[in-house]
Amino acid sequence: MASVPPPEEGSVTVVVRVRPQNQREQEGNQHSTVRVVDDRILVFDPEEPCLPGVFMGFRGHDAPKRKGKDLKFMFDRVFSEHATQEEVFQHTTKEILDGVLNGYNCSVFAYGATGAGKTYTMLGSEKSPGIMYLTMVELYKRIEARKDEKYCEVLISYQEVYNEQIHDLLEPKGPLAIREDPEKGVVVQGLSFHQPKSARQLLEMLANGNKNRTQHPTDVNATSSRSHAVFQSKKPHIPYRDSKLTRLLKDSIGGNCRTVMIAAITPCTLAYEDTYNTLKYASRAKEI
Ligand code: ADP
Repeated sequence: MASVPPPEEGSVTVVVRVRPQNQREQEGNQHSTVRVVDDRILVFDPEEPCLPGVFMGFRGHDAPKRKGKDLKFMFDRVFSEHATQEEVFQHTTKEILDGVLNGYNCSVFAYGATGAGKTYTMLGSEKSPGIMYLTMVELYKRIEARKDEKYCEVLISYQEVYNEQIHDLLEPKGPLAIREDPEKGVVVQGLSFHQPKSARQLLEMLANGNKNRTQHPTDVNATSSRSHAVFQSKKPHIPYRDSKLTRLLKDSIGGNCRTVMIAAITPCTLAYEDTYNTLKYASRAKEI
């Protein structure tokens, strides 16, 4: 299978990852709202005939109706529920590490509704570490290999965009304002930067930062809130526009930056609207 070409300056690579249904969802015997066609195409709400009784028997006043929209979406890469953390890493962030070492600003961020798999993809678990860990191990390895020719410094910040407010996850304080700086462009005022000495130390920082998220990653039952953790190696520059997340994203695309957006979705029927909205936002992100 072909891999995603390395992102060019000012470009955004958009990939989608479909998480597997959990046991409870499987027991509910629901049809998946997405069908992964190949490594670039997925169909939302496929029209294929459903098994008798499966959707018709799906009751409850909150139950969204499956409408058979049969919408085809194309992305730089689509990861099915069988994709491993390593595969996601190989085809997304690994590609931009050379860019980082050559002085580009690079951002990788996960977008999606609560419970769609953002934390799993970015942070993962002890047994199955996510792409932050895999990226950092690779980054430190490459820095070490080049240490005689180049001096590299790793500075990290970890922020959350939640209900139009920006929070510093490494040094929690009140919401941070976005400010125009004549030299640096638009910056998140007061966002803290830290200097981890190793991939392990960096991961500890991120794990601690996660505890400060408004929507705690393990709280998968709360469906009303949305949070998007943005993790970066360099200070952000943000031009004015629309929602804070779009402003962060637009700046990434507009400047000397390579961006990878990982849209996380769940195939379960209850998340029908969330999945649809995430796919629409993700396909628009290419045009921002
Ligand atoms: P979010 O951060 O978007 O709210 P999570 O990453 O916490 O969502 O995922 C919700 C649940 O689904 C968690 O229990 C997580 O372990 C599980 N999960 C998500 N993605 C996957 C995956 N690709 N494989 C296995 N389990 C997953």
